Amino acid sequence: MVSRRQFLSSAASAAMVARAPRVFAGQAARYDLIIGGGRVIDPSLHLDAVRDVAISGGRIAAVRANIGSDAADIIDARGKLVVPGLIDIHTHTARSADGPALVLRDGVTGWIDAGSQGADHIADTIAVARSSPQQGRVLINIGRAGILPEGDTMDLARADAGAARDAIAKNRDFIVGVKARLSRDVAGSHDYEVLRHAQEAAKAFNLPVMIHMGQTMSPLPKLLELLERGDIVTHMFAPPPNSIIDDRGQILPEVTAARRRGVWFDVGNGVTGHMRWDVVEAIMKQKFWPDTVSTDWSTMSPTTGVIDLPNCMSKLLNYGMSASQIVACATVNASRVFPLFKNRGTLKVGAPADVAILELRTGTFEFQDNYNNKIASSQRLFPSGTVLAGKRVQG
Ligand SMILES: [Zn+2]
Repeated sequence: MVSRRQFLSSAASAAMVARAPRVFAGQAARYDLIIGGGRVIDPSLHLDAVRDVAISGGRIAAVRANIGSDAADIIDARGKLVVPGLIDIHTHTARSADGPALVLRDGVTGWIDAGSQGADHIADTIAVARSSPQQGRVLINIGRAGILPEGDTMDLARADAGAARDAIAKNRDFIVGVKARLSRDVAGSHDYEVLRHAQEAAKAFNLPVMIHMGQTMSPLPKLLELLERGDIVTHMFAPPPNSIIDDRGQILPEVTAARRRGVWFDVGNGVTGHMRWDVVEAIMKQKFWPDTVSTDWSTMSPTTGVIDLPNCMSKLLNYGMSASQIVACATVNASRVFPLFKNRGTLKVGAPADVAILELRTGTFEFQDNYNNKIASSQRLFPSGTVLAGKRVQG
C-alpha cells in the first residue's frame, strides 16, 4: 500500500520528466500551473536558485524546491531562467495594433509606450493600450502632433502644455506620464522650453516626465535642473554632445546628484544616436549602472540591433553586471517607476502570476550599437516562454 502522499511524491519526478501534469481522476489539481526546475532569479526576493513556481487563481501560490506535479498544467523549465514577467518602460508598442502580442512573446508582461503620440492623436495609442492582453500604458508626447520626422517640437508652438493637460484629464487611467524628446533634431534650440512645458503638464497631475537625452543644444546639467524625484532620463548611454559623461569620460556631478535625488536612469536602446559601446564602457566602468533596461521597441526591432528586451538585457552582461542585477532592471526596478506596476516585477506569493521564461545560451554572439560597431559576447538571453495572469501564452 502506498499513501496518496507517497504516490504523489514518486509520481512527481516521473511527471516532470514526461512534462505532463499528474492529476488524479475526479480530483481537482492542487495548482493550476507549475513551472518546474528552472533557475528562478527574482531580485525582489533576493533569490537566485533552482526552484519550482506554483500558480493558482492567476497568482503566485508558492516558490520553493520540489513542489511536485499536482497541477493541471506543467512547464518544464529545467536549464532555463524563470524570472518575473518583464516590464519595458520605453517602447513604441502602441504604434501598432500587433505590438502588445509581439512583445508578450518576448516575455514582456508590462509596457509603456513612451510618447508615440501627443494630444492630437493620443486616442490612437490609448486604444492599443486598452485592448492589450498585458498591462500597457502611454506617455503623452508634449509635442501635440507626436513623433514627427521634422522634429516633434521644432515648432515650439507644438509643445502645448494646455492641450496635454486636457488630454491627461480625460484619460487619467491610461496616460501615466509626459515624454519630452530633447535632441537637437527633435526640439532644435527649444529643449529647455519644451521640458518646462512638459513639467507644467505633468505636475498638474503629479505624473513623471521622461526626457529623451543626448545630442541636445543645451548642456545636460541645465536640463537636469528641471527634473525631480520620479522623473526618468532615457537614452543614458547616448554619445556626445551632451552625454552623461564629460570629455574625460567622467560621470558629470550633476548626473550623480540627479540620481541621488531620485531621478531614474534608463537605457532606451533604440537604433539612432542612443548607444555607442565606448560610451557604454566608460559609464559602466564607473559603476553608474542603469536603473532600468528598456528597448525603445518598435515593430522593426526584430531586424535591428534591438531585437527584443532579453537581447537588450544581455548586452550589459559584458560590462560587469550579474544576471540578477540585469533582471532587476527589467522587473522590480521597472515596477517602481510607474505605480500601475505595483505588485508586478516579483514572484512573491500572492502577486499576479506574470512570468518570463528565458534561456541564457552560451556560444558566440554579436551585439550592435547604434553606430554599426559590434562587440562579441559569449552569452545571450533568449525568450523561451511567457505566463500571463497564470496562463501560458501560446507562441
Ligand atoms: Zn522612444
